[in-house]
Amino acid sequence: MSSPVSGPERPVSGPADDAVDEQPVASSRPPGYEPDLDGDPWWEALATHRVVVQACPACARHRLPRMPSCPWCGTAGGDDVEIAGTGVVYSFVRAHRPLTPAMVDAVPYAVAAIDLDGGGRVFARVEPPEATAIGVRVRPTFVDHDGWTELRMAVLHSAGPEVGA
Ligand SMILES: [Zn+2]
Repeated sequence: MSSPVSGPERPVSGPADDAVDEQPVASSRPPGYEPDLDGDPWWEALATHRVVVQACPACARHRLPRMPSCPWCGTAGGDDVEIAGTGVVYSFVRAHRPLTPAMVDAVPYAVAAIDLDGGGRVFARVEPPEATAIGVRVRPTFVDHDGWTELRMAVLHSAGPEVGA
C-alpha cells in the first residue's frame, strides 16, 4: 500500500530551502530572522540607532510594520521616514518567570505594545518594568547585541508611585 499524499496529518512545514541560501541575511538582523524585503529597512535603521516607519505617499499616514501598500487608502508603496520614536504604552505584559533560558537574568521584564507618536504601533521591552503601565509615555533606547540592534523603550515619566528615582 502506497503512502498517502494527503491526509489529516501534515509534515511540519519549515522555511523554504530556496532563496535562503541565495539571499544571505545581513549582519544587522536578530537570530532567526528570515530575509524580508518589507522588514529589512527597519533593522537597518535600528543598527544606526534610528526609528523609521512608512509614510503613505497619498494620505501620509504612518504605518508599522512595513507593508507593500497603505492599509487605509490602498495606495501602493511607502516612503521611509525617520521619527523620534516616542509614544504611549497601549498595553503590556510583565514577565516574572523566564520563558526561555536566555531570559533568566532578565526577569522581571515588561513587553508592551506602543502607539508611536504620529502613527504606527510597535512591540518592545519597556524599562523599568515596574514603571510600565498603560498610558505612560516612552522614548526609544537602542541595545546593541552581537550583530543586531534591539529597540527598547524607556518610561519618560509616570504619575504612579512606583517610578521612584
Ligand atoms: Zn494611505
